[in-house]
Amino acid sequence: MSTPKSPIVQQLPLDAQLAVIAGKVDRQERITDEECLLLFQKASLPFVGSLANQIRERKHGDVTYFNRNFHIEPTNVCIYSCHFCSYSQLYAHRDEGWELTMEQMLDIVKSYDGKPVTEVHVVGGVHPKMNLEFFAELMRKIKAHRPDLHIKGFTAVELDYMFRKAKKTVEEGMKYLHEAGLDSMPGGGAEIFHPEVREKICADKVDGEGWLKIHETAHNNGMFTNATMLYGHIENYSHRVDHMSRLRALQDKTGGFNTFIPLKFRNKDNDMSNVAESTMVEDMKMYAIARIYLDNFPHLKAYWPMLGRQNAQLTLSFGVNDIDGTIDDTTKIYSMAGSEEQTPSMNTAQLVTLIKQARRKPVERGTLYNVIRDYDSIDLKEIESNPLLN
Ligand code: SF4
Repeated sequence: MSTPKSPIVQQLPLDAQLAVIAGKVDRQERITDEECLLLFQKASLPFVGSLANQIRERKHGDVTYFNRNFHIEPTNVCIYSCHFCSYSQLYAHRDEGWELTMEQMLDIVKSYDGKPVTEVHVVGGVHPKMNLEFFAELMRKIKAHRPDLHIKGFTAVELDYMFRKAKKTVEEGMKYLHEAGLDSMPGGGAEIFHPEVREKICADKVDGEGWLKIHETAHNNGMFTNATMLYGHIENYSHRVDHMSRLRALQDKTGGFNTFIPLKFRNKDNDMSNVAESTMVEDMKMYAIARIYLDNFPHLKAYWPMLGRQNAQLTLSFGVNDIDGTIDDTTKIYSMAGSEEQTPSMNTAQLVTLIKQARRKPVERGTLYNVIRDYDSIDLKEIESNPLLN
């Protein structure tokens, strides 16, 4: 943890310590790691919720972003065996999984011809035969077919393997994929950086330093990325603070992160099914404290297929200003892990309704938060009847 201790906080009773934190938020000052830990351990949900909402409204008012995207999951075959993963098939059992060909993936892209999607999100397992050249070719073919489509692709875990296998440095590999058409990166694979936890839940994939190095390199190449944290399993609050502290430090250095996305651990059909899932109160606290601590992250996103629609709606009062997108496809990563959302797809009218019910303003964005359309004043019937709006 990088931020120095605050001597004042340690000497005061709890109410006064919390008042110091509230004062900092009010004055738009950064809170320390110790203060963040105190919020996790001692603060009530209404307290952190109110501070997070203050920050959210200062940064974004009522605006709540969503985008219109679709996913391609090239494969669920994976050389790794993360214990929390309900999605992957080991290479030895690849007959039970799926492996899309280049043509099948391009067919998915073509199936969106004429539809107003702005982004394709490409993530999947780490397949030993799908290498850097294969994915560079996929990027080139997607761009050749639809140059305006923003390609957000590959977790740092996938990239680490691809680059090592191609015997490229992170700098070389990133430049190569960027030139082939990769526009930005999602934030997956971060899990919990701290080795005490990482070694227990996903020992064999890239470590925290490696994950951060890949994102830093992407930022240095002019690409924006997101960051995630898988919370609510065997980690403790110090591990969460350590994780966010490393992200905040890198963001100070590069400014290349757009969004932080806390990901709730789900326990269905994986090696950690004996670990209880976090409560809804714990989830809301996680979002709120992330919003308070990560003062240099512009956006906080709730991924609705994982949380469920109603809880995602609730997060809009706890610091969240983005609820991802229409995700019009067969996203399997969370439905296979026990999410409430077994068919994770919402059209624009449904997303707009969800945001408006929470008394926020729905705004469609591009991947990099460029405003595409303000839906606040568009009548729901018009959205439902116009295929370009819905
Ligand atoms: S979480 Fe990702 S890297 Fe880990 S086993 Fe699942 S697909 Fe593979």
